Amino acid sequence: MSRNLPAIPLAIPNIGAGEAKNLQACVDTNFVSSVGPFVTEFEERVAALSGSSAGVAMGAGTQALHMALRATDIGPGDLVILPSFTFIASANAISHSGATPWLMDIDPASWTLDPETVRTALKTHTEMRGGTLRHKASGMRVAAMIPVYTLGTPADMDALGSIASEYGLVIIADAAAAIGVDYRGQPIGPKAHMTCYSFNGNKTITCGGGGMVVGDDPMLMKRVRHLSTTARVSPNYEHDMVGYNYRMTNVQAAIGCAQLDRLNDFLAVKRRIRARYNDAFSGQTGVGVFPQPEDRESACWFSGLVLEDDALPPVNDVCARLKEHNIEARPFWMPVHMQAPYAQAIREACPVTEGVWQRILTLPCSTSLSPADQERVIAAVEAALS
Ligand SMILES: *Cc1c(COP(=O)(O)O)cnc(C)c1O
Repeated sequence: MSRNLPAIPLAIPNIGAGEAKNLQACVDTNFVSSVGPFVTEFEERVAALSGSSAGVAMGAGTQALHMALRATDIGPGDLVILPSFTFIASANAISHSGATPWLMDIDPASWTLDPETVRTALKTHTEMRGGTLRHKASGMRVAAMIPVYTLGTPADMDALGSIASEYGLVIIADAAAAIGVDYRGQPIGPKAHMTCYSFNGNKTITCGGGGMVVGDDPMLMKRVRHLSTTARVSPNYEHDMVGYNYRMTNVQAAIGCAQLDRLNDFLAVKRRIRARYNDAFSGQTGVGVFPQPEDRESACWFSGLVLEDDALPPVNDVCARLKEHNIEARPFWMPVHMQAPYAQAIREACPVTEGVWQRILTLPCSTSLSPADQERVIAAVEAALS
Protein backbone atom coordinates (compact mmCIF):
# COMPACT_ATOMS: atom_id res chain seq x y z
CA MET A 1 0.00 0.00 0.00
CA SER A 2 2.79 2.42 0.90
CA ARG A 3 4.26 1.66 -2.51
CA ASN A 4 1.37 3.61 -3.94
CA LEU A 5 2.40 6.80 -2.19
CA PRO A 6 4.20 9.28 -4.46
CA ALA A 7 7.94 8.75 -4.67
CA ILE A 8 10.18 11.02 -2.57
CA PRO A 9 13.57 11.26 -4.29
CA LEU A 10 16.86 11.94 -2.49
CA ALA A 11 18.00 15.16 -4.17
CA ILE A 12 16.61 16.37 -7.48
CA PRO A 13 16.85 19.66 -9.37
CA ASN A 14 14.29 22.40 -8.83
CA ILE A 15 13.60 23.92 -12.24
CA GLY A 16 10.94 26.55 -12.85
CA ALA A 17 9.73 29.46 -14.93
CA GLY A 18 12.94 31.50 -14.65
CA GLU A 19 14.99 28.64 -16.07
CA ALA A 20 12.45 28.16 -18.88
CA LYS A 21 12.58 31.86 -19.75
CA ASN A 22 16.39 31.87 -19.94
CA LEU A 23 16.41 28.69 -22.03
CA GLN A 24 13.90 30.25 -24.41
CA ALA A 25 16.23 33.26 -24.70
CA CYS A 26 19.02 30.87 -25.81
CA VAL A 27 16.74 29.52 -28.53
CA ASP A 28 15.53 32.97 -29.58
CA THR A 29 19.05 34.40 -29.86
CA ASN A 30 20.64 31.22 -31.28
CA PHE A 31 23.26 31.35 -28.49
CA VAL A 32 23.22 27.70 -27.42
CA SER A 33 26.90 26.84 -27.48
CA SER A 34 30.11 27.91 -25.77
CA VAL A 35 29.72 31.61 -26.51
CA GLY A 36 26.88 33.63 -25.07
CA PRO A 37 25.85 36.24 -22.54
CA PHE A 38 24.70 33.77 -19.88
CA VAL A 39 28.16 32.20 -19.57
CA THR A 40 29.74 35.57 -18.80
CA GLU A 41 26.92 36.59 -16.46
CA PHE A 42 27.15 33.28 -14.61
CA GLU A 43 30.92 33.59 -14.20
CA GLU A 44 30.69 37.13 -12.90
CA ARG A 45 27.90 36.43 -10.44
CA VAL A 46 29.46 33.25 -9.01
CA ALA A 47 32.84 34.98 -8.67
CA ALA A 48 31.21 37.96 -6.91
CA LEU A 49 29.30 35.86 -4.40
CA SER A 50 32.53 33.94 -3.67
CA GLY A 51 34.40 37.19 -2.99
CA SER A 52 36.69 36.40 -5.94
CA SER A 53 37.66 38.62 -8.82
CA ALA A 54 37.17 36.06 -11.61
CA GLY A 55 35.45 32.81 -12.52
CA VAL A 56 35.86 30.37 -15.39
CA ALA A 57 32.85 28.14 -16.08
CA MET A 58 33.22 24.61 -17.42
CA GLY A 59 31.34 21.42 -18.07
CA ALA A 60 31.72 19.76 -14.65
CA GLY A 61 33.15 20.20 -11.18
CA THR A 62 35.67 17.47 -11.98
CA GLN A 63 36.91 19.54 -14.92
CA ALA A 64 37.18 22.62 -12.71
CA LEU A 65 39.44 20.73 -10.27
CA HIS A 66 41.48 19.31 -13.15
CA MET A 67 42.03 22.75 -14.68
CA ALA A 68 42.94 24.33 -11.33
CA LEU A 69 45.63 21.67 -10.89
CA ARG A 70 46.94 22.04 -14.44
CA ALA A 71 47.01 25.84 -14.17
CA THR A 72 49.43 25.56 -11.25
CA ASP A 73 51.65 23.10 -13.16
CA ILE A 74 50.76 20.18 -10.92
CA GLY A 75 51.31 16.92 -12.77
CA PRO A 76 53.34 13.71 -12.87
CA GLY A 77 55.62 13.24 -9.88
CA ASP A 78 53.54 15.51 -7.64
CA LEU A 79 51.60 14.58 -4.51
CA VAL A 80 48.37 16.37 -3.63
CA ILE A 81 47.00 16.11 -0.10
CA LEU A 82 43.32 15.10 -0.13
CA PRO A 83 40.90 13.82 2.51
CA SER A 84 40.00 10.20 1.80
CA PHE A 85 36.42 11.05 2.72
CA THR A 86 35.31 12.72 -0.49
CA PHE A 87 33.50 12.00 -3.72
CA ILE A 88 35.86 10.04 -5.97
CA ALA A 89 35.88 12.91 -8.50
CA SER A 90 38.29 14.89 -6.27
CA ALA A 91 40.82 12.06 -6.49
CA ASN A 92 40.12 11.49 -10.17
CA ALA A 93 40.89 15.13 -11.00
CA ILE A 94 44.30 14.65 -9.35
CA SER A 95 44.83 11.47 -11.40
CA HIS A 96 43.70 13.23 -14.61
CA SER A 97 46.38 15.85 -14.04
CA GLY A 98 49.00 13.06 -13.76
CA ALA A 99 49.59 13.76 -10.06
CA THR A 100 49.01 11.37 -7.15
CA PRO A 101 46.70 11.86 -4.17
CA TRP A 102 48.13 11.63 -0.64
CA LEU A 103 45.07 10.61 1.36
CA MET A 104 44.46 11.79 4.91
CA ASP A 105 41.80 11.68 7.59
CA ILE A 106 39.01 14.07 8.51
CA ASP A 107 38.13 15.92 11.68
CA PRO A 108 35.12 14.22 13.33
CA ALA A 109 33.64 17.63 14.22
CA SER A 110 33.27 18.74 10.59
CA TRP A 111 34.06 15.72 8.36
CA THR A 112 36.60 17.97 6.61
CA LEU A 113 40.39 17.58 6.21
CA ASP A 114 41.96 17.54 9.68
CA PRO A 115 44.68 20.22 9.97
CA GLU A 116 46.47 18.35 12.77
CA THR A 117 46.76 15.22 10.64
CA VAL A 118 48.10 17.28 7.75
CA ARG A 119 50.65 19.05 9.93
CA THR A 120 51.88 15.82 11.52
CA ALA A 121 52.12 14.05 8.17
CA LEU A 122 54.10 16.90 6.64
CA LYS A 123 56.42 17.05 9.66
CA THR A 124 56.99 13.30 9.72
CA HIS A 125 57.07 12.30 6.07
CA THR A 126 58.55 15.24 4.15
CA GLU A 127 61.87 17.04 3.86
CA MET A 128 63.32 19.87 1.79
CA ARG A 129 65.64 18.61 -0.94
CA GLY A 130 67.25 21.20 -3.22
CA GLY A 131 64.54 23.74 -2.45
CA THR A 132 61.69 21.29 -3.11
CA LEU A 133 59.40 19.75 -0.51
CA ARG A 134 59.63 15.98 -1.01
CA HIS A 135 57.74 13.03 0.42
CA LYS A 136 60.60 11.00 1.90
CA ALA A 137 59.43 7.48 1.05
CA SER A 138 58.29 8.13 -2.54
CA GLY A 139 60.59 11.02 -3.44
CA MET A 140 57.61 12.83 -4.93
CA ARG A 141 57.19 16.59 -4.70
CA VAL A 142 54.43 17.63 -2.29
CA ALA A 143 52.74 20.34 -4.32
CA ALA A 144 49.24 21.10 -3.09
CA MET A 145 46.33 20.31 -0.87
CA ILE A 146 42.67 20.01 -1.79
CA PRO A 147 40.44 20.53 1.25
CA VAL A 148 36.92 19.32 0.53
CA TYR A 149 33.96 21.34 1.85
CA THR A 150 32.04 18.23 2.87
CA LEU A 151 28.25 18.59 2.64
CA GLY A 152 28.81 22.29 1.98
CA THR A 153 30.76 22.98 5.18
CA PRO A 154 34.10 24.74 4.60
CA ALA A 155 37.20 23.05 6.00
CA ASP A 156 39.21 24.78 8.74
CA MET A 157 40.78 27.14 6.22
CA ASP A 158 42.59 29.38 8.71
CA ALA A 159 44.54 26.40 10.05
CA LEU A 160 45.03 24.75 6.64
CA GLY A 161 46.00 28.08 5.10
CA SER A 162 48.78 28.66 7.60
CA ILE A 163 50.10 25.11 7.06
CA ALA A 164 50.01 25.66 3.30
CA SER A 165 51.97 28.91 3.50
CA GLU A 166 54.46 27.39 5.92
CA TYR A 167 55.18 24.53 3.48
CA GLY A 168 54.67 26.49 0.25
CA LEU A 169 51.69 24.45 -0.91
CA VAL A 170 49.01 25.51 -3.37
CA ILE A 171 45.48 25.28 -1.92
CA ILE A 172 42.67 24.34 -4.26
CA ALA A 173 39.34 24.13 -2.46
CA ASP A 174 36.86 21.49 -3.56
CA ALA A 175 33.79 23.55 -2.73
CA ALA A 176 31.66 21.43 -5.07
CA ALA A 177 28.57 21.68 -2.89
CA ALA A 178 29.37 24.81 -0.89
CA ILE A 179 28.13 27.64 -3.08
CA GLY A 180 26.76 30.52 -1.03
CA VAL A 181 28.45 29.80 2.31
CA ASP A 182 30.73 32.04 4.31
CA TYR A 183 33.72 31.01 6.37
CA ARG A 184 33.92 32.91 9.68
CA GLY A 185 31.87 35.73 8.25
CA GLN A 186 33.82 36.02 5.02
CA PRO A 187 33.21 34.67 1.52
CA ILE A 188 35.08 31.45 0.79
CA GLY A 189 36.85 32.38 -2.47
CA PRO A 190 39.89 34.13 -0.95
CA LYS A 191 40.52 31.23 1.46
CA ALA A 192 42.24 29.22 -1.30
CA HIS A 193 44.31 30.00 -4.39
CA MET A 194 41.42 28.63 -6.41
CA THR A 195 37.99 27.38 -5.38
CA CYS A 196 36.03 24.88 -7.46
CA TYR A 197 32.26 24.40 -7.64
CA SER A 198 30.03 21.76 -9.20
CA PHE A 199 26.62 22.42 -10.75
CA ASN A 200 25.71 18.77 -11.14
CA GLY A 201 22.01 17.89 -10.87
CA ASN A 202 22.08 16.98 -7.19
CA LYS A 203 23.96 20.09 -5.99
CA THR A 204 22.29 23.10 -4.33
CA ILE A 205 22.06 24.86 -7.69
CA THR A 206 22.48 23.08 -11.00
CA CYS A 207 23.19 23.86 -14.64
CA GLY A 208 22.15 20.34 -15.63
CA GLY A 209 25.88 19.74 -15.33
CA GLY A 210 28.69 22.19 -14.87
CA GLY A 211 31.53 23.51 -12.78
CA MET A 212 33.55 26.63 -12.13
CA VAL A 213 36.95 27.74 -10.89
CA VAL A 214 36.96 31.07 -9.04
CA GLY A 215 40.04 32.92 -7.83
CA ASP A 216 41.88 36.21 -7.51
CA ASP A 217 45.22 35.66 -9.23
CA PRO A 218 44.83 37.08 -12.75
CA MET A 219 47.65 34.93 -14.19
CA LEU A 220 46.19 31.72 -12.77
CA MET A 221 42.68 32.52 -13.90
CA LYS A 222 43.96 33.39 -17.35
CA ARG A 223 45.68 30.00 -17.53
CA VAL A 224 42.52 28.21 -16.38
CA ARG A 225 40.54 29.94 -19.12
CA HIS A 226 43.21 29.29 -21.74
CA LEU A 227 43.66 25.60 -20.88
CA SER A 228 39.93 24.90 -20.66
CA THR A 229 39.21 26.46 -24.07
CA THR A 230 41.65 24.39 -26.20
CA ALA A 231 44.60 26.78 -25.55
CA ARG A 232 43.67 28.78 -28.60
CA VAL A 233 45.91 31.77 -29.39
CA SER A 234 44.14 33.05 -32.50
CA PRO A 235 40.91 32.47 -34.41
CA ASN A 236 43.04 30.77 -37.10
CA TYR A 237 43.13 27.38 -35.42
CA GLU A 238 46.40 28.12 -33.68
CA HIS A 239 47.03 26.61 -30.23
CA ASP A 240 50.10 26.84 -28.00
CA MET A 241 49.52 23.97 -25.54
CA VAL A 242 47.64 20.70 -25.23
CA GLY A 243 44.40 22.27 -24.08
CA TYR A 244 41.01 20.89 -23.08
CA ASN A 245 37.55 21.40 -24.48
CA TYR A 246 35.88 22.00 -21.12
CA ARG A 247 33.88 25.18 -21.78
CA MET A 248 30.41 25.51 -20.29
CA THR A 249 27.67 26.18 -22.86
CA ASN A 250 25.28 29.11 -22.83
CA VAL A 251 22.40 26.64 -22.35
CA GLN A 252 23.95 25.33 -19.13
CA ALA A 253 24.70 28.86 -17.92
CA ALA A 254 21.15 29.97 -18.76
CA ILE A 255 19.87 27.44 -16.23
CA GLY A 256 22.64 28.43 -13.81
CA CYS A 257 21.75 32.14 -13.90
CA ALA A 258 18.10 31.42 -13.15
CA GLN A 259 19.17 29.09 -10.31
CA LEU A 260 21.41 31.83 -8.84
CA ASP A 261 18.34 34.06 -8.48
CA ARG A 262 16.96 31.37 -6.17
CA LEU A 263 20.17 30.46 -4.31
CA ASN A 264 19.26 32.18 -1.05
CA ASP A 265 15.83 30.55 -1.03
CA PHE A 266 17.38 27.15 -1.76
CA LEU A 267 19.92 27.57 1.05
CA ALA A 268 17.15 28.53 3.47
CA VAL A 269 15.14 25.43 2.51
CA LYS A 270 18.20 23.15 2.77
CA ARG A 271 18.91 24.50 6.26
CA ARG A 272 15.29 24.16 7.31
CA ILE A 273 15.30 20.51 6.13
CA ARG A 274 18.51 19.83 8.07
CA ALA A 275 17.10 21.48 11.20
CA ARG A 276 13.91 19.43 11.03
CA TYR A 277 15.76 16.10 10.75
CA ASN A 278 18.06 17.15 13.59
CA ASP A 279 15.08 18.08 15.70
CA ALA A 280 13.27 14.82 14.96
CA PHE A 281 16.20 12.50 15.65
CA SER A 282 18.68 14.22 17.96
CA GLY A 283 17.02 12.82 21.06
CA GLN A 284 17.13 9.25 19.81
CA THR A 285 19.76 7.01 21.43
CA GLY A 286 22.36 5.69 19.06
CA VAL A 287 21.40 8.15 16.33
CA GLY A 288 23.67 11.09 15.55
CA VAL A 289 23.09 14.08 13.31
CA PHE A 290 25.46 15.53 10.72
CA PRO A 291 28.26 17.64 12.25
CA GLN A 292 27.90 21.41 12.30
CA PRO A 293 30.98 23.24 13.61
CA GLU A 294 30.01 26.38 15.54
CA ASP A 295 32.47 28.65 13.74
CA ARG A 296 31.25 27.81 10.24
CA GLU A 297 28.19 28.11 8.09
CA SER A 298 27.08 25.15 6.01
CA ALA A 299 25.17 24.97 2.76
CA CYS A 300 23.54 21.83 4.22
CA TRP A 301 23.85 20.20 0.83
CA PHE A 302 22.68 16.82 2.08
CA SER A 303 20.89 15.94 5.28
CA GLY A 304 20.55 12.70 7.14
CA LEU A 305 21.60 10.68 10.17
CA VAL A 306 24.54 8.78 11.59
CA LEU A 307 23.52 5.33 12.80
CA GLU A 308 26.05 5.19 15.60
CA ASP A 309 24.73 2.24 17.59
CA ASP A 310 25.63 -1.26 16.37
CA ALA A 311 22.24 -2.45 17.59
CA LEU A 312 20.57 -0.37 14.87
CA PRO A 313 20.01 -1.96 11.46
CA PRO A 314 22.76 -1.33 8.88
CA VAL A 315 22.35 1.67 6.57
CA ASN A 316 21.60 -0.51 3.53
CA ASP A 317 18.78 -2.27 5.38
CA VAL A 318 17.26 1.07 6.38
CA CYS A 319 17.45 2.21 2.75
CA ALA A 320 15.65 -0.97 1.67
CA ARG A 321 12.94 -0.40 4.28
CA LEU A 322 12.47 3.19 3.12
CA LYS A 323 12.25 2.03 -0.48
CA GLU A 324 9.17 0.03 0.54
CA HIS A 325 7.63 3.40 1.40
CA ASN A 326 8.73 4.79 -1.97
CA ILE A 327 11.34 6.96 -0.25
CA GLU A 328 14.86 7.19 -1.66
CA ALA A 329 17.67 7.15 0.91
CA ARG A 330 21.30 6.24 0.34
CA PRO A 331 24.60 5.65 2.07
CA PHE A 332 27.22 8.35 1.51
CA TRP A 333 30.73 8.45 -0.03
CA MET A 334 32.81 5.31 0.18
CA PRO A 335 36.29 6.53 1.21
CA VAL A 336 38.73 6.97 -1.67
CA HIS A 337 41.29 4.56 -0.18
CA MET A 338 38.66 1.81 -0.19
CA GLN A 339 37.97 2.24 -3.91
CA ALA A 340 39.67 -0.12 -6.37
CA PRO A 341 41.65 2.54 -8.31
CA TYR A 342 43.08 4.00 -5.08
CA ALA A 343 43.57 0.88 -2.98
CA GLN A 344 47.36 1.29 -3.24
CA ALA A 345 47.35 5.07 -2.75
CA ILE A 346 49.83 6.77 -0.44
CA ARG A 347 47.91 7.54 2.69
CA GLU A 348 47.89 8.23 6.39
CA ALA A 349 45.74 6.25 8.83
CA CYS A 350 42.07 7.18 8.42
CA PRO A 351 40.28 5.97 11.59
CA VAL A 352 37.66 8.73 11.60
CA THR A 353 36.80 8.18 7.94
CA GLU A 354 36.61 4.42 8.40
CA GLY A 355 34.50 4.79 11.52
CA VAL A 356 31.89 7.08 10.08
CA TRP A 357 31.30 6.34 6.41
CA GLN A 358 29.28 3.15 6.78
CA ARG A 359 27.05 4.73 9.40
CA ILE A 360 25.85 7.66 7.32
CA LEU A 361 22.31 7.61 5.98
CA THR A 362 21.39 10.44 3.61
CA LEU A 363 17.71 11.34 3.51
CA PRO A 364 15.55 13.23 1.00
CA CYS A 365 16.61 16.87 0.94
CA SER A 366 15.55 18.33 -2.42
CA THR A 367 14.62 21.99 -2.24
CA SER A 368 11.18 20.94 -3.51
CA LEU A 369 10.64 18.60 -0.53
CA SER A 370 7.43 19.71 1.18
CA PRO A 371 7.19 19.78 4.98
CA ALA A 372 4.46 17.11 4.72
CA ASP A 373 6.74 14.83 2.69
CA GLN A 374 9.55 15.36 5.17
CA GLU A 375 7.21 14.24 7.96
CA ARG A 376 6.45 11.13 5.88
CA VAL A 377 10.20 10.45 5.66
CA ILE A 378 10.67 10.96 9.40
CA ALA A 379 7.85 8.56 10.25
CA ALA A 380 9.21 5.94 7.87
CA VAL A 381 12.75 6.27 9.28
CA GLU A 382 11.40 5.96 12.84
CA ALA A 383 9.60 2.77 11.82
CA ALA A 384 12.68 1.41 10.06
CA LEU A 385 14.88 2.01 13.09
CA SER A 386 12.54 0.51 15.67
C1 LIG B 1 29.85 16.70 -6.98
C2 LIG B 1 31.24 16.69 -6.48
C3 LIG B 1 32.36 16.75 -7.35
C4 LIG B 1 32.26 16.58 -8.84
O1 LIG B 1 31.50 17.45 -9.53
P1 LIG B 1 30.91 17.02 -10.97
O2 LIG B 1 30.24 18.27 -11.42
O3 LIG B 1 29.97 15.89 -10.74
O4 LIG B 1 32.07 16.64 -11.83
C5 LIG B 1 33.63 16.84 -6.81
N1 LIG B 1 33.82 16.87 -5.48
C6 LIG B 1 32.80 16.81 -4.61
C7 LIG B 1 33.09 16.88 -3.15
C8 LIG B 1 31.48 16.69 -5.07
O5 LIG B 1 30.48 16.61 -4.19
